[in-house]
Amino acid sequence: MSFLPRAAEAMIDLDALRHNVGRVRTLAPRSRILAMVKADAYGHGLIAVSRVLSNEADGLGVACVPEGLALREAGLGGRVVVMQGCKNDDELAAAHAAGLDLVVHEPGQVERLERYAAGAAPLTIWLKVDTGMHRIGFEPEEIPALSARLQGMPAVAPGLRYVTHFACADDPAAQAVTDRQVARFRAATDGLQGERSLCNSAGILTRADAHADWVRPGIMLYGASPLLGTTAMELDLKPVMTLQAPLIAIRICRAGEPIGYGGVYTCDHDTRVGILAIGYGDGYPRHAPSGTPVSVAGQVCTVIGRVSMDMLAVDLGAVDCKPGDKAVFWGGNPAVEVVAQGAQTISYELLCAAGSKARRVYI
Ligand SMILES: *Cc1c(COP(=O)(O)O)cnc(C)c1O
Repeated sequence: MSFLPRAAEAMIDLDALRHNVGRVRTLAPRSRILAMVKADAYGHGLIAVSRVLSNEADGLGVACVPEGLALREAGLGGRVVVMQGCKNDDELAAAHAAGLDLVVHEPGQVERLERYAAGAAPLTIWLKVDTGMHRIGFEPEEIPALSARLQGMPAVAPGLRYVTHFACADDPAAQAVTDRQVARFRAATDGLQGERSLCNSAGILTRADAHADWVRPGIMLYGASPLLGTTAMELDLKPVMTLQAPLIAIRICRAGEPIGYGGVYTCDHDTRVGILAIGYGDGYPRHAPSGTPVSVAGQVCTVIGRVSMDMLAVDLGAVDCKPGDKAVFWGGNPAVEVVAQGAQTISYELLCAAGSKARRVYI
């Protein structure tokens, strides 16, 4: 049979992933690495990515219990931390049976642990401190008492850990916010025994003073820059995902003719238009404006008109190409951050969306 599958492909370069973990090791040589693989490893494939990272990192971070269980079902041992903790009694029992570490961030989770009979194998708990993100976690003033209470519970293993999360570490102009969060965390955990973790990717790159016992890289493992105004290449990070799809038609549109839905783009000269087999149904952002770069047969073109569900148009100019040739939407050139910025979003969202929709091919 010669039917072609839906055309968008996300090529996943596992050597680039290894390279990026190596960058984290170099940047935070005294910390252990909790590699974040939530959201299907940022769209790169939970299991395939975790198989690599379970050898290269010291633990894996997931959002929810089912993600952690999926890792165990795939035969992955080692430390797995559930960043949202458990949401009900069944999740607690399943997490316990699977040997997952749990974050505890709200009173119901504390009470659930208090009632839970863990037998001979208590759970490793990470107590979440809200130092200013105001998403999840306990107030800094509550930490000493909670710490004592948790450590008194038979279900909690010795060695309670402490974790917080930065709200603005990506923004060099907001370092004062991160300074305040670091100070609050230190004050909240002052004098308490136990391992600590503060830094996401942006913190790893900018806050060596806060690397502590565990760093928690996410986006930088996948080769995108977590810092506003800094490229992945400048940080020596290698893009792991390359999103590509073929050119399926070449047309000439005359000056004055509109292209695509809404006719929002009108050719101001006779234009050689390339139609590419990708759209928002494949996770390419619908809000990518005219002018967003796309590489066709290795040469840079720009999007023109609105992105459709499974196609988009580019101005081919004089690019030497024919239907069947490959276009690259991000991964090296163009960089995913550039596409994200044009579409008024962040690389995280693009990687998650396209990675979970396009066909993934591992290299
Ligand atoms: C997602 C996440 C991270 C990783 O963040 P990046 O910006 O992708 O490095 C770290 N810690 C927690 C709690 C997270 O939810």
